[in-house]
Amino acid sequence: MKIGVISETLQGERRVALVPDAAVRLAMFSFELVIEAGAGEQAGFADNAYHEAGVAVEVDRRALLGTVNVVLSVQPLGLEDVAWLRVGATTISFLQPTTQGALIEALAAQGITAFSLELLPRISRAQSMDALSSQASLSGYKAVLIAANRLGKFFPMLTTAAGTIPPAHVLVLGAGVAGLQAIATARRLGAVVEAYDVRSAVKEEVKSLGASFLEFELDAQEGKGGYAREQSDEFLAKQRELLTNRVAVADVVITTAAIPGRQAPLLVTAAMVQGMRRGSVIVDLAAETGGNCEVTQPGRVVEVDGVWVDGTTNIPSTMALHASQLYARNVSNLLQHLASEGELKLDFEDEITRDCCVTHAGQVVNERARQLMGLAAAPQPTQSEASR
Ligand code: NAD
Repeated sequence: MKIGVISETLQGERRVALVPDAAVRLAMFSFELVIEAGAGEQAGFADNAYHEAGVAVEVDRRALLGTVNVVLSVQPLGLEDVAWLRVGATTISFLQPTTQGALIEALAAQGITAFSLELLPRISRAQSMDALSSQASLSGYKAVLIAANRLGKFFPMLTTAAGTIPPAHVLVLGAGVAGLQAIATARRLGAVVEAYDVRSAVKEEVKSLGASFLEFELDAQEGKGGYAREQSDEFLAKQRELLTNRVAVADVVITTAAIPGRQAPLLVTAAMVQGMRRGSVIVDLAAETGGNCEVTQPGRVVEVDGVWVDGTTNIPSTMALHASQLYARNVSNLLQHLASEGELKLDFEDEITRDCCVTHAGQVVNERARQLMGLAAAPQPTQSEASR
């Protein structure tokens, strides 16, 4: 089976879906590997490193797409890439099913089997394939460094001959994968950290990282699979009211709150920003899905009432080497899960295969993706269709 890796074309995307170390591992499973020339360059991996790892380097993207059985990428393929794929080929990438309806229709029409890493089930068996988590962890870490860099203060408490410097106060809203990594990083830098999440289940994890957990008299909002459920407008209004004082005394606010497939909840209003001290910093990791802060501008850093509000998007790409290394490991593990003896053998009874496969045998087979695209429910493929 031939596996191809293409260069990322989205502006600012520096990651690559396969790194040489992961290629060496995949080659042991009898996969033949090919990469588009220069694909790893921006993540720090030159073509000759792939060559030494036994990966063929192809300069012609179209030729690569037209000859491989599986294409790996970080971002979704472009529509023109889909047209070049062989009927029956497979793609594995982030597919952004909420916004990529046209692409998903095209993949189905071309008879492509497409896997979306966003839809991987959050179960322990799938943890090693969980690219959302590996990339969120990078975002949480980097968000703190961005904030520390922008803040005109130390993070740790310092006792110096010129006086004592109090520690910075960091507030982390949303204590999922990114939030927990942000808490750990801010603590390592010596800040005093408090955190809040609508899932009370994370309280012990927050405390074990040395942060305090904000508890409000609000109902927990636990949803399915470890995620939060969508919250009512009343709930969010009450939450903002209770958070106002905590936001006002924070030097740094890192917001990471998200609901899968929905717009990010609004946690920090413009009035709350106005109540913060000048020079304070907000890093809004939810910028791409609408932002947790009312004044966030996706992809930009703005100063509002003396407060820096950072809406940088695609933060994992700013740490492209480790982001690619972790992503490549996740994708390789998924590939090994889907294949046996060097061939893809899809078992739609398996939760991992079923949940993250979006298109197969000419259809959009994923219920979550179908709902987001406004399509009626589809029958699950039979075992004989699955083995096509
Ligand atoms: P996410 O990115 O969807 O959300 C981030 C956080 O925002 C979540 O903790 C959520 O509860 C929180 N949130 C939502 N609305 C909020 C609000 N109004 N106020 C404050 N916080 C709000 O989630 P994620 O970080 O990708 O994952 C969440 C959890 O899923 C993890 O912490 C973990 O428990 C679980 N998980 C399990 C596995 C696994 O078992 N394989 C893998 C990854 C994650």
